[in-house]
Amino acid sequence: MIKAKKRFGQNFLKDEFIKHKIIQAMPNDNTSVVEIGPGLGDLTKKLLETDKKVTAFEIDLGLCDFLQDSFKNELKSKQLELVCGDVLDNWEESLIDEQYHLIANLPYYVATKIILKALFDKKCKTILVMIQKEVALKFSANAGDKEFSSLSILTDIIGESKLLFDVGPECFDPQPKITSSILKIVKKKEYIEDSLFKDEQEVKRFKDFLKVAFSAPRKVLIKNLQKIYSKESLTEYFEAQNLSKSVRPHQLRTIDYHLLFKNLK
Ligand code: SAM
Repeated sequence: MIKAKKRFGQNFLKDEFIKHKIIQAMPNDNTSVVEIGPGLGDLTKKLLETDKKVTAFEIDLGLCDFLQDSFKNELKSKQLELVCGDVLDNWEESLIDEQYHLIANLPYYVATKIILKALFDKKCKTILVMIQKEVALKFSANAGDKEFSSLSILTDIIGESKLLFDVGPECFDPQPKITSSILKIVKKKEYIEDSLFKDEQEVKRFKDFLKVAFSAPRKVLIKNLQKIYSKESLTEYFEAQNLSKSVRPHQLRTIDYHLLFKNLK
């Protein structure tokens, strides 16, 4: 009997209907799948039944032994590749050498970090993950929603996101104290093929810019931005673009943030 380890965020998905709904929400093509945290292999089994090639990363070495035993045939035929260790230690520019869809019931403690890595990994085409509902709302919010944040803007620039459905604690063993949601992000073609940003440096500068923009979420945006731009250039830009000077960070659209970043020096 394998005991769930809290430190690895282990809440095993037991509900057959939810597993089925995740598989149904997968893109219907031949692209490989990456699963982060296969755990006891319940979702892995369903993924393999769709005939897809799966690469799974599992940090818990005890579970890795269990998986090696459970999926002997699939490992032998190379339909399944199992990498034992922390997925973040294996993540260079790209997690694997071919294009892939990320499909996973993510450990809550590291979910945001993993999604951000996958967003900027050009080989990753789709992200279909189960995460904490509050975090899913942040990634999928639209301008004007109170959850709209730098995470929503980064997601919006790179892909199209949608919170598909909620999953209650009763669907897991052990049961978490929170509600989970399934989040789906489909990357935009232009981001996969040719970045909207010049290079990695520009991406980093954009992330830093968003940090400043949302540094005091209740203050007006123009005030937050005065930490990095002069008051004069901001006033001039806001007036020229017909942007209200009383707009708060969550109220400006993604496109306006992108333009602001590109045009203000
Ligand atoms: N996929 C299984 C399921 O749906 O029942 C397990 C999901 S459980 C929420 C998260 C899984 O991620 C666990 O198996 C845990 O050991 C694994 N995990 C946690 N941190 C990890 C990391 N940094 N790298 C790889 N796997 C990790």
